[in-house]
Amino acid sequence: MDAAKVQAALTDLGLPKFRWEQVRQAVFGQAVSSYDEISVLPAATRAALAEKVPLMCVRERRVDVSGDGRAHKALLDLADGSVVETVLLRPSETRWTTCISSQVGCAVACTFCATGLMGLKRSLTPEEITDQVLFWRQYMAKKKLPGRLDNVVYMGMGEPFACYEQVSASLKALLDQKQFAIGARHISVSTSGVAPKIALFGKDFPQVNLAISLHAATDDLRTRLVPMNKAFDLAALAAALKEYIGSTNRKIFFEYVLLKGENDRPQDADALVKWLDGVGPKELLHVNLIVFNQTDTQHKPTEERDAREFQARLLAGGYKSTVRQNLGRDIDGACGQLVVLEKKAK
Ligand code: SAH
Ligand code: SF4
Repeated sequence: MDAAKVQAALTDLGLPKFRWEQVRQAVFGQAVSSYDEISVLPAATRAALAEKVPLMCVRERRVDVSGDGRAHKALLDLADGSVVETVLLRPSETRWTTCISSQVGCAVACTFCATGLMGLKRSLTPEEITDQVLFWRQYMAKKKLPGRLDNVVYMGMGEPFACYEQVSASLKALLDQKQFAIGARHISVSTSGVAPKIALFGKDFPQVNLAISLHAATDDLRTRLVPMNKAFDLAALAAALKEYIGSTNRKIFFEYVLLKGENDRPQDADALVKWLDGVGPKELLHVNLIVFNQTDTQHKPTEERDAREFQARLLAGGYKSTVRQNLGRDIDGACGQLVVLEKKAK
C-alpha cells in the first residue's frame, strides 16, 4: 500500500479525513487483505477505492512451507510481470522475521549467490518493498499464525544500497507509527559494501541495524567473490565504516559465508581479525558466520564444524561471532538461494 496514493484517492472521492484513519487501522492494524473487509466503510467507498488504487501492488503466485513450518517462501507477481521472492521465518517460538527483497535480481554478481547469477532486472518501488511485509502480515492473519511479525531484514534479492532512494522511502514507511510501526532496532539492512551509501545511511537511519556482507578480508579474494570490491575495496569499506561508527556508535554485523577451501582457512580468519582491528572497537563489531547453502555454483559447501573452527579463531582474536541458523534450506529459502527460476516459479 502506498499511503499517499490512498489518501489522495480518498480526497478525490471527497471523503473526510477519518476515512483514512479507518483504512489505515484496518490495513496496518488488522492486516485485512481487501477493502471489502473494512466493514466500517460504506460499500460504495470500498468499491470506489478498489477501483482507484489496489490495496497492494504484489500478488501471491505461490507459497512453500518448510517441513518444520519455520520458513515460508513466497513468489510474488509484480505489475510488469516480474517475480520477486520473500521469506517469512520463525527463528524462535514467538518471533517472526521477514527477509525482503529490494531488487529483481542483482547486479553485484557475487559468485556464490543464486540471485547474483540471474543479473539485475530492475529495482523495486518503495511500495513493492513494503508490500512484502504487508503480504506476510496478511498471510499470518489468514493462517492464524500466533505471534507478531515485527522484525524485517533487507537480505532477500538485490543490493539495497544500489537503490538507496527506494529503500530509504520504504524504511520510512516501516518505521512510521501510523503505518507499519516497526522499531528501528528490529530492522536490518544488509549491503555488499556500497561505501558512499554507508555513511549516509548512518546519518539517515542511525537506529536501524547495518549488516555488511564481507566474505573475505583480503582484496584479491574479496574481488573474486564480491566483484563490488573492485569499486569499493577493503580500505574504502573500512573508512566508510569508521565514519559510520563515528556518527552512530552502533554495532555493525558482518556476514561471512564460508566456502570450503576458499575463505574458511585459518589464515582467512586471521586476516579477518587483522582487518577488523582497523575498523573500530571490538565490542562494536560482530561476525555472523554463514554455512554455505548450495547454489548452482562451483563452490563447495561447508558444515557447521567448519564454522566452529573459524569462529574459535575469531574469538581468540577478541571478536564476538555467531553461526547463523539455517532455516528454510529444504524450500530454497535460505540465504542466497533466492532466485526466480522458471522451473521453480511454476
Ligand atoms: N545484497 C545484499 C543483501 C542480500 S543479503 C548483500 O549481499 O548483503 C543475503 C545474504 O546471504 C548475504 O550476506 C549473502 O552474501 C548471503 N548469501 C548469498 N549466497 C549465499 C549462499 N549460497 N549461502 C549462504 N549465504 C549466502
Ligand atoms: Fe547481490 Fe547480495 Fe547476492 Fe551479492 S550476495 S549477488 S550483493 S544479492
